[in-house]
Amino acid sequence: MSGFDRFFLMNAEDAARYAAEVLHLFESGEDLRCREIGDGNINYVFRIESEASGRSVIIKQADRLLRSSGRPLDVRRSKIEARALQLESALAPGLVPEIYHCDEIMAVIAMEDISDYRNLRSELAENRIYPHLAEQISSFLADTLLPSTELVLDRREKKERVCFFTNPELCEITEDLVLTEPYDNYKNRNIVTPGNEAFVEEALYRDETLKAEVGKLRCAFMNNAQALLHGDLHTGSIFANEQGVKIIDPEFAFYGPMGYDIGNVIGNLFFSRGNKAFTAPDDTEPAAALDRTICELYDKTREKLSGKYNELVEFSLYRSGQFKSFYLDGVMADAIGYAGTELIRRVVGDSKVSELTSVQDPALRLPLERTLIRLGSFLVKNRGRICSGAELTEAFRHILTEGESL
Ligand code: ADP
Ligand code: MG
Repeated sequence: MSGFDRFFLMNAEDAARYAAEVLHLFESGEDLRCREIGDGNINYVFRIESEASGRSVIIKQADRLLRSSGRPLDVRRSKIEARALQLESALAPGLVPEIYHCDEIMAVIAMEDISDYRNLRSELAENRIYPHLAEQISSFLADTLLPSTELVLDRREKKERVCFFTNPELCEITEDLVLTEPYDNYKNRNIVTPGNEAFVEEALYRDETLKAEVGKLRCAFMNNAQALLHGDLHTGSIFANEQGVKIIDPEFAFYGPMGYDIGNVIGNLFFSRGNKAFTAPDDTEPAAALDRTICELYDKTREKLSGKYNELVEFSLYRSGQFKSFYLDGVMADAIGYAGTELIRRVVGDSKVSELTSVQDPALRLPLERTLIRLGSFLVKNRGRICSGAELTEAFRHILTEGESL
C-alpha cells in the first residue's frame, strides 16, 4: 500500500489506485472508471467502478481544509462518521451504506455505493412520491436513537461513547449557524432576501420570547448528551427509491438531544411543502403526500420510540409509566422546537436550501420565506403544546392561510 502512509488530498486517479492497492476490491490492471461526485461543501466523494465487472465502491475523503471556504476543519470527523455509520448499521440494518474500510491517516471511508438511490430533496422537488418515507425514516430514528441512550446502554459504555463522539468543531457550526446567528447576527453572515429585512428584524431579532425559547434549545443542544445523533439529518442526507431509503453523512454525529434529528427531518420536509404551496396549484397529489409523510413521520416516530422503550428499558425507575411519558413528551417537544430552528436558519442563514433559492420571483419568494419563518417561530414557542402529526400539519395550513394577517 505504498504512498498512502501520510495524509494527502487525493484526486480521482489516487482514489482508483487506493481502491485497488489498499482495499483490494479490484484486480490489478483492471480498467477502472473514477469520478469525483461530491456535491456537498465539506468533503470529497469518489465513485470507482470497474467497466468489466460493473462492481463499484465509494471513497469519501475529509480534507484538512473545508471544501467551500478553505478554513481548517478537524479530519477526526471522518473517524466519527465511520463509527457512527457502523453503529447505525448494527441498529438499523440496511438503512445506511455498508462500511468496507476506514483509514484514520488518509481520513478516508470506503463504503457501499448507493447510487441506485436518489437525493430525497431533489426527488421531492421533482414531485416523486414515496409512500414508505415515514415508515422508513421513523424506523431509522427510533432504532438508532433510543438504544444509544443510558436508558438502554450500560452507563459506563455510554460515557465512553460520549467521549469518543465529542465533536467540538462540527457542533460549533450548528451552535452558531442554527442556534445563534439567525437571532443575533453577530458575525454578520445572515443573508436576508431584499424586501424581507423589516420582517426579519421584527420576527427574529426583536422577538424576545422567541429568543429566550431558542436559548433553551441551544442550551439543550450543548448540554443534553441524551443520544447519539446523526447531527445533519436534512433531506440531502436521505436517499430514496421505490425499495426504501439510505441515510448517509453522519459526520456531525455527537451525543445530543434526540429531538434535534427528528426535528431536522421534519423542518426540511416543510421546505418542500412550503415550496409546493407557493409554486404549484393547491391540493396537488405531491403536496398531499408530503402532508401525509410529515404527519405520519411525527406519529410513527413517537409510537416506535414508545415501543422501543417498552422493549429495551429495564431500569426500575425508568419503567414507571409517568417517567416514560415525561421522557418521550420531552423528546417530541424538542423535535418540534428544532424543526422550527431549522426552518428559520435556512431562510435567513447562509446555508440556503434549493426549495427557496429556486423560487426567483420575489412575489412568491418573499411570502414563502415569511410563511416558513412564522411557522418556525410558532413551532419553537408552542413545542410543548403540539402532540400529534395532525396538529403539526394543521399549524402549517393555518399559517399559510392566515399568514399575512397574523
Ligand atoms: P459531504 O459530507 O461533503 O456533504 P456527502 O456524504 O453528503 O458529503 O456526499 C456528497 C454526495 O456524494 C452525496 O450527495 C451523494 O451524491 C454522493 N455520495 C455520498 N456517499 C455516497 C454513497 N455511499 N453512494 C453513492 N453516492 C454517495
Ligand atoms: Mg452532506
